[in-house]
Amino acid sequence: MQKQDLKIYNTLSRELEKFEPIHEGHVGMYVCGPTVYNNAHLGNCRTYISFDVIYRYLLHCGYKVRYVRNITDAGHLENDADEGEDKIGKKAKLEQLEPMEIVQRYTLDFHHVLELFNTIPPSIEPTATGHIIEQIEMTKTILENGFAYEKNGTIYFDVEKFSKQNNYTILSGRNLDELLNNTRELGGQEDKNGRLDFALWIKAKPESIMRWQSPWGDGFPGWHIECSAMSSKYLGNEFDIHGGGMDLIPTHHTNEVAQNIACHQKSPARFWIHTNMLTVNGQKMSKSLGNSFLPLELFSGNHKLLDKGYSPMTVRFFMLQAHYRSTLDFSNEALQAAEKGFVRLMNTMKLIDGLKTSEQTTSNVKLLTSNIYDAMNSDFNSPIVLAHLFEGVRMINAVHIGTEKISIEDKNSLSKLMNDFVFDILGLKEENAVNTDKIDGLMQMIFHIRNNAKTNKDFKTSDEIRDELKRLGFEIKDGKEGTSYTITN
Ligand code: AMP
Ligand code: ZN
Repeated sequence: MQKQDLKIYNTLSRELEKFEPIHEGHVGMYVCGPTVYNNAHLGNCRTYISFDVIYRYLLHCGYKVRYVRNITDAGHLENDADEGEDKIGKKAKLEQLEPMEIVQRYTLDFHHVLELFNTIPPSIEPTATGHIIEQIEMTKTILENGFAYEKNGTIYFDVEKFSKQNNYTILSGRNLDELLNNTRELGGQEDKNGRLDFALWIKAKPESIMRWQSPWGDGFPGWHIECSAMSSKYLGNEFDIHGGGMDLIPTHHTNEVAQNIACHQKSPARFWIHTNMLTVNGQKMSKSLGNSFLPLELFSGNHKLLDKGYSPMTVRFFMLQAHYRSTLDFSNEALQAAEKGFVRLMNTMKLIDGLKTSEQTTSNVKLLTSNIYDAMNSDFNSPIVLAHLFEGVRMINAVHIGTEKISIEDKNSLSKLMNDFVFDILGLKEENAVNTDKIDGLMQMIFHIRNNAKTNKDFKTSDEIRDELKRLGFEIKDGKEGTSYTITN
């Protein structure tokens, strides 16, 4: 395995490029984290699972990786715009809670879900509100450098001025003149000089509870400056990898690059990695389109589009079957196939240690090893890696039933290869398969006891049973046809 063979598709150049870190042996990687105003949906999870595999492979290659993934807990307005309500503030109002209660609830949910998917936590997880000072400082420097202007307590980035000396659309490859000359009205954003200008700092409305002091009065940071400030604080003005979903390219990441150049005269990252979307019937999964699945709905099968529940590792396996730059369409059939594939892989992994060895080998372990590394080095191509791992599965089963032979050296190499890739790099893990028939039997027995209690007017016991089941994650429903249950966690 040669880590110097790793090639990554760089959105900046739109080409596969050889990966070489700025500081030998060290990699700095920043990935835009979630805005914690609701439960992370499966699409969000796809992006973080993709970066988890990238992180794991970089670690496997021996790099010391500093992986920074932020939490956006303020400044992200509705429609990703500079006007409108803060997503978190809005939810807080709706639920009559403090914004920080919303942040806490959904940060915990995010961590819980990513843990179920067996992702490794980042090395640093900074919050936007914990870095207001850095964001104000950066805004001040951009103002001093002449790339921003103030209007009524809001600071805007001057895109037209910036683009006279720099390529503003370098990431998206869009035509700047078309964007600038687009005749669309500024639409309630008359304070801006140009329609591409965006806010670095936004004046708080009198009623807004999300506000911080600044040299320009009370306000809050723009979403884009948050990531610029946090990435440069922890990774320096120039680092190796910046990532996020593809939907962030035209605005959020384009603006991050502009801010960093306007502040530090340096583009932040050498490599920009963008993950493609999880789709449902070809449409991006998103909360606002109403086609999103929550991971817990998928695990329990408690969703109108699902035939049954799927375990977290089945879902992770399903996601790995697509390359991170391709879209992945959600379907029951694909999940069922993934479930079969995952079980077969796990069952085969248990056979490796017990394989009998021979004098010679009939299987080509060397070729398999190089095929697997080649696929991974070719922009983390997990579907090809999986296809080759199944060649490994075939070999192991063939040796197990005696139709092929393996030497002790090859058995050790094959065991290391399979274990490294299946568990350490792709991040799959053995799951205790829950025997649903047994659970069903137990539940029927409990319902019987509860019904007897009810018949005897012992409602204390019947309620206790219901509450305790709820605490354990079983929601029960009394209906005309008896009692049914759903697993909620
Ligand atoms: P947000 O919390 O909306 O800022 O999104 C968090 C991350 O999830 C971003 O990197 C988005 O690009 C990514 N994302 C959102 N929707 C999807 C989707 N359907 N498929 C894959 N990634 C997504
Ligand atoms: Zn970001």
